[in-house]
Amino acid sequence: MAEGNLEAPTRHPIDWKNPEYYNEDKSLNELERIFDICHGCRRCVSLCGSFPTLFDLVDATESGEVEGVDKKDYWKVVDQCYLCDLCYMTKCPYVPPHPWNVDFPHTMLQAKAIKFKKGGVTGGEKFLSSTDVHGQFAGIPIVTQVANAVNKTKPARAVMESLIGVDKDAWLPDLATKKFRHGTPKSKDFAIKDGVKTPGKVAIYATCYVNYNEPGIGLDLLKLLDHNEVPYVLVDKESCCGMPKLEL
Ligand code: SF4
Ligand code: SF4
Repeated sequence: MAEGNLEAPTRHPIDWKNPEYYNEDKSLNELERIFDICHGCRRCVSLCGSFPTLFDLVDATESGEVEGVDKKDYWKVVDQCYLCDLCYMTKCPYVPPHPWNVDFPHTMLQAKAIKFKKGGVTGGEKFLSSTDVHGQFAGIPIVTQVANAVNKTKPARAVMESLIGVDKDAWLPDLATKKFRHGTPKSKDFAIKDGVKTPGKVAIYATCYVNYNEPGIGLDLLKLLDHNEVPYVLVDKESCCGMPKLEL
């Protein structure tokens, strides 16, 4: 068998409509199979929290093998994956069509879906991932300032840690005193110039973080577009892209 893939990577469709997709025993077996391959490889150790968590769990066992890890601890590895796809896209030589068929992110996604379906996601986690809900407090005079000040106090951080699991020492972004979408300058009436590979105009989907926390990033982008005489619009009816929900 080849050490790594010589073929272009392929991806199996996610079979999320099939009830078997949510079979926890099968998922745990697949996690064990993939964890065992990763333990022997360890190439992805620096990419995110999932891999060091897995390798620490393995190294703490008497046998030094994945079989010694309590399956309940698999969820610690799953929780650390934020589905960036980096391991699949840039590191792993064993992705399909390699016979080992390692798709670490899709395996994490399936485990997360199972956890969600069986009610393993707390109300606090759901609230935290609803960035478009708590972002609504941005830009409201006094409310924003009060929320930002409270978020910096030790008692509030202790309550936050116990209620929704946000580490009391973790850095929290401030809410913006003015949302990006409020009062954003309109694009000047530049003519659309087709670039070699671009349509010469931009539709901006700002994201929650830029809208509610760091509007300066968006405003800088507008200045760059303006400087380069590229017309832009902010997309209508912008709402949550759902990305934070993928981390549940
Ligand atoms: S997809 Fe998950 S496991 Fe892979 S590098 Fe990204 S966060 Fe880590
Ligand atoms: S995902 Fe692939 S490259 Fe990364 S540790 Fe596992 S087997 Fe190795």
